[in-house]
Amino acid sequence: MSPADVGRPRREPRFAGAPWTGYHSPQVEAAVRLNTNEAPEPPPPEFVAALAAAIPGIDLNRYPDRRARRLRAALAGQHHVGADQIFCANGSNEVIQSLLVAYGGPGRCCVVFEPTYALHSHIARLTATAVVEGERNQGYLIDPAEFDRALARAATSGEGEPAVVFLCSPNNPTGLVEPDATVEAALARAPGLVVVDEAYVQFAPRSVLDLVGSHPNLVVLRTFSKTWSLAALRLGYAIGAPEVVEALFQAALPYHVDAVKQEAGILALGFTEQMDARVARLVAGRARVLAGLAVLGLEAVPSESNFVLFSTGDHDAHAVWEGLVARSVLVRDLSGWPRLAGHLRVTIGTPEENDAFLAALAEVVG
Ligand code: PMP
Repeated sequence: MSPADVGRPRREPRFAGAPWTGYHSPQVEAAVRLNTNEAPEPPPPEFVAALAAAIPGIDLNRYPDRRARRLRAALAGQHHVGADQIFCANGSNEVIQSLLVAYGGPGRCCVVFEPTYALHSHIARLTATAVVEGERNQGYLIDPAEFDRALARAATSGEGEPAVVFLCSPNNPTGLVEPDATVEAALARAPGLVVVDEAYVQFAPRSVLDLVGSHPNLVVLRTFSKTWSLAALRLGYAIGAPEVVEALFQAALPYHVDAVKQEAGILALGFTEQMDARVARLVAGRARVLAGLAVLGLEAVPSESNFVLFSTGDHDAHAVWEGLVARSVLVRDLSGWPRLAGHLRVTIGTPEENDAFLAALAEVVG
């Protein structure tokens, strides 16, 4: 800094020139959009009607309940936990941000196991939390020895022991559930919080939610964006120990969850049966897509989520992605990502969308 600069405001953003420019799935126009793991069906019209009917009763001139008490009580009832164990925010991404504001930051680090959900490390960097990357094995699971190596690397990173270890179950983009042994080992060995991101858990056979009561270092993340067909609403939440929830409230902006969203979340919980039916349809669609990929001779990860990671084999993955786009089918091209060369990820859509995807793919690789 030259003497003339002293006392001048700094105008460069902290992230100018950062190697990682953000988390964006290209928004290419396409008739069949299977790139962002959203629900293909809208929420039930009865839900939309109930929400519209509730809006006149909301005091729009007043700030919302800062603690979202009714919504948290409704979620607590759904999960058989205390309302003091729930923290809501604008999508689970904002929950992740609050967690890292509260527990990460300069001089602290977190651990992720790649390949995994890119926003865990991205938000960590935005909050100046150092990121220690562990590696998943060939089967995309975490070897116990690698878990210990990652913790040891964190401890010697100069940023201290990891404040947060992220797991993701089912893991995005692989679709696999983290084995119980992995979660148990993490809970036993991690010195700080273990955050298990369960954004897709309703598509999977099991959750780790039952462990929250007995493990004050466990935080489970959930979202309304996938199975609840409410990605546009931006509502997610954490379930954890009351002390963690209090720390998250400290880190959140005042009134961060608006009154309409609070009402919408409460109303959505009245449509659980419809949600379960949508999940069953997507699980059936997943079996159909996995079978179709096998027929085409393409290797896929046996997903327990609403998306499938597959290898394009001898075909160039980006060229396959382009071939699909040319046929108005948009999937996620992960082939340029570290550790995912040759791979694409397809979200399970409606039966018609799944068929359109498989037909287009057969043309491209056939
Ligand atoms: N976690 C995972 C694993 C995800 O894949 C996503 C969405 N892509 C999120 C969290 C974020 O969800 P939300 O819309 O609730 O912010």
